[in-house]
Amino acid sequence: MELTATPGNPGHGFFSLNIVASRGCPYRCNWCARPIYGDSFHIRSAESVAEEMRELKDIFGAEHLWFADDLFGIKPRWVLELADAVERRAAALPFKMQSRVNLMSEETAGALKRAGCTEVWMGVESGSQKILDAMDKGTRVEQVPMARENLRRQGVRACFFLQFGFPGETWEHIQKTIQLVRQTRPDDIGVSVSYPLPGTKFYERVREELGAKTQWVDSDDLSMMFRGAYTDQFYRALHDALHAEVETWSPPSGDRLRGPDIAVEKSASATRVRDLWARVSRLEKTCRNPEPTLSSAAV
Ligand code: SF4
Repeated sequence: MELTATPGNPGHGFFSLNIVASRGCPYRCNWCARPIYGDSFHIRSAESVAEEMRELKDIFGAEHLWFADDLFGIKPRWVLELADAVERRAAALPFKMQSRVNLMSEETAGALKRAGCTEVWMGVESGSQKILDAMDKGTRVEQVPMARENLRRQGVRACFFLQFGFPGETWEHIQKTIQLVRQTRPDDIGVSVSYPLPGTKFYERVREELGAKTQWVDSDDLSMMFRGAYTDQFYRALHDALHAEVETWSPPSGDRLRGPDIAVEKSASATRVRDLWARVSRLEKTCRNPEPTLSSAAV
C-alpha cells in the first residue's frame, strides 16, 4: 500500500487516517444496530494499537486519526495502558473517537489526553432520564456534566450525539435535552431523529406503523418513520435552532473572526438563534401529532 502525506480531506486540511482498536459493543441501547450482531466484543492489545499509531505517524505521515470503533475505551485499564504505550513510543497523534458518558472518568480523560485524543463523541441522546431508560441506554443524565467537565479540564473536545422523537418523548422531555445542552455547552452536537432499524427492540415496537417506509435509507434526513409526538417540520426546526445555538459558543475553527467583525457576527448570530427558537416555539403548537406512538416506559 502506498500512501502520500497529502491532506486526506481538503475540508479539514490535514492528513487523517482511520484505525480500529476494538469490534462490537456489550451495551444494549434498544434502537442501535450494534447489539444485533451479538454479544461478541474484541479488543486489541494496547501495545499493538500504540505500535500501529507509531507506524501511521512515522511511516505514513498521518497527522490525525479517527478511531472507527463502535465504542472506544470500554475498559479504563486498557485506556491507561494505551496512554503508557503511546508515550513510550512518542506515538501520540491527535485523534477522535466515540464513547459513552459513563466511561469518561477523570482518570480516563487524563489518559486519553496523554494518548493524543482531541475529540470525544458521546451518545448523550436525551436530557430526560425517562427517555434514556426507555432506550435502555444505561446512562444517567447527571453523568453528562461530569463527563463534559472531565474532558474540558484536559482540553479535549466533548461532542454529543442527540436523538429526538423516541416514542413517548414529549415537549417536557425535549426541553430537558435543550437545558442539558445549554448547561454543559458541548463543543459540537450531532442531532438525529429516532430511526427504527430492523432487528432492534425499538423496530418491533413501531413496525406496525412503518407501512411502505421499512428501509431507513428511504427516509429523508430527520424524517420520522413512525408517528412521533411531532411532524418532521418540528424536528428539523429543533435541529436547526440547537445547532445554531451551539455554534454561537463554539464556532467551527475555520470560521473564527477577529476584531470588530466579532461583535457584528455575534449580534447577527444571536438574532438568528432567537428567530430559530421562536420558530420552534410556533411549530411546537402546530406540528403536534394527534396520535403519537407511546412507550409505556417513557410516559
Ligand atoms: S449506541 Fe453505542 S453504546 Fe449503545 S449499543 Fe450502540 S454502540 Fe453500544
